[in-house]
Amino acid sequence: YIQIYAEKIQINNVWVGTMLVLRDVTKETESDRMKEEFVSTVSHELRTPLSSIYGFTELMLNKSFEEERQLKYLQTIHSETGRLTTLVNDFLDVQRMESSEQRYQMSTFDIVELANDVTDFYGASHTTHTLAFAGNGPIMIDADSEKIKQLLNNLLSNAIKYSPDGGTVSIEVQNQDGFAEIKIRDEGMGIPQEAMSKLFDKFYRVDNSETRKIGGTGLGLSICKEIVKHHNGTIDVESTVGVGSTFTIRFPVAVISTILTYETE
Ligand code: ADP
Repeated sequence: YIQIYAEKIQINNVWVGTMLVLRDVTKETESDRMKEEFVSTVSHELRTPLSSIYGFTELMLNKSFEEERQLKYLQTIHSETGRLTTLVNDFLDVQRMESSEQRYQMSTFDIVELANDVTDFYGASHTTHTLAFAGNGPIMIDADSEKIKQLLNNLLSNAIKYSPDGGTVSIEVQNQDGFAEIKIRDEGMGIPQEAMSKLFDKFYRVDNSETRKIGGTGLGLSICKEIVKHHNGTIDVESTVGVGSTFTIRFPVAVISTILTYETE
């Protein structure tokens, strides 16, 4: 974006020329656009669960319902509160990452075991999909285990969110030429080609009727990208609309793991 500013130059009241100033305002325009998107996302994403919590609690306070109905309302209130918590955490994470306040607690651990635990934990609370895990450990990496859990949770949550109930989400971990490679594959709606280059940008969401119905902040993948970058890893996506998507993450294997592999060979 270029801002053009013109000024008449006069000497002794005689017009001698015009000065043109061209300023590159791409950065400012981009940041204005982000701010606008932020405000609209926050207001929509916060208002929707809040009004539903408010509505259901008010209903329950003013009227008595049979147990089954009560339970249904409570479940809605519970899941909407969960949604708000995720939302607030995502916003805070992005804010922390931008102000480089984020601290990483590095340790060496087996990524196969961690991915298996995350899958089991996630599978227990998301019974609409089958979660299939494959991987033989140990594959040791140097990383912040909490951040890696968050990364896998975000990708699993998307895989489930953007694919129909009854589908399978598969998680595969393997050692690929000195890299721990994790693949998360779904049988969902897929991602259009033109969205690929913007997918990991903050607040970006594929704009179609299906994704609009699903809801989200467009922050999850930007957080994933930051976490991966911090661990000298990579994140890639392959997708076919109507068939499904595969997200692939790679982290360098820890030196200790390489030594162990040599010893056993
Ligand atoms: P959110 O899910 O909150 O919108 P994300 O940053 O996690 O934000 O994802 C950005 C966008 O990428 C989503 O809005 C969705 O359009 C698309 N997307 C992410 N993961 C998938 C997936 N597994 N299948 C299809 N689309 C996806």
